[in-house]
Amino acid sequence: MRRLLLEWYGRGHRALPWRKSRDPYAIWLSEIMLQQTRAQAAIPYYERFLERFPDVAQLAAAREDEVLALWSGLGYYSRARNLHRAARRMAEAGGFPREYEAIRALPGIGDYTAAAVASIAFDLPHAVLDGNVLRVVARMRNDAADIGSGRTRERFRAVAQGWLEETHAGPAKQDMPAGQFNQALMELGATVCVPRNPLCLLCPVAGLCQARAAGTVAQLPVKLRKTAPVQLEGVLLVVRNRGRILLRQRDAASTRMAGFWDLPAPGELPGAALGERIGEIRHTITHHHYRLEVRHASARKPRDEAFRWFSVVELDTIPFSTTARKGLKLAGIVPKL
Ligand code: SF4
Repeated sequence: MRRLLLEWYGRGHRALPWRKSRDPYAIWLSEIMLQQTRAQAAIPYYERFLERFPDVAQLAAAREDEVLALWSGLGYYSRARNLHRAARRMAEAGGFPREYEAIRALPGIGDYTAAAVASIAFDLPHAVLDGNVLRVVARMRNDAADIGSGRTRERFRAVAQGWLEETHAGPAKQDMPAGQFNQALMELGATVCVPRNPLCLLCPVAGLCQARAAGTVAQLPVKLRKTAPVQLEGVLLVVRNRGRILLRQRDAASTRMAGFWDLPAPGELPGAALGERIGEIRHTITHHHYRLEVRHASARKPRDEAFRWFSVVELDTIPFSTTARKGLKLAGIVPKL
């Protein structure tokens, strides 16, 4: 894999301006810009920025509004603010840190950016894991685990790290330093092993690719969708009778909050006479978003033992569901528990 990737990368790759540099400041700047911006769109910003602030000291000495003005159009301005803060910190500490942990500790730098800067500028053996690398790992290993999960990402990072260490320890170390290997892997994902219709016929590592051998390339990587939000509406009733309030206890079969007390819903109180609207509460449980209207009502207590009248004093001694607590509060009744 090392030899094939090296030969392929050596034959040519996109001529991006930051690829010409080993200056940690320039590499860091490019990586921060590339966090949320496509490479081609970032180029003019990168060049202008470097021209105006050619090193850490000059960036650290700048006013924040000047930095933000040069960033204007790139969006996600917290990146520019963090860049500026990090430059000031580095200027105080005497320059760009040379260890991974110290780079990672700078504002605005996560695992990916720290590994990219450490490997490209200082040849430190830290594998990068961006979307491109995740895709290449999933396909090379024919691994259908969800790349949205933290555990999968950690596992894939270990695979990329294994490739990198193999590369680093091998005879081609001089030919392919850590930064070059990382860039070659990302370049493979960005230009050949692309999300749709990857160019397997042009791929330098096709002979080692397990997904290609298994015919599963188009299904990988797997990214499970987050469950779609569900909007739910309902009504809760505040039923009073001679100073007491009617509540219903959740039964033991209830998966959540069994034993807790709820305000009843109209469907649970046949014959209830709905009264004035008190207001509305909202409540979210995982992807379920509830909008609940709270109304006064008069009703008899059903025979069901789950229903009980409580005096206001007794309300301080029983557990409530969150929606009941919100509904009671809206009605001006605030139990202590
Ligand atoms: S053979 Fe195809 S799927 Fe496998 S790594 Fe190469 S481009 Fe990606």
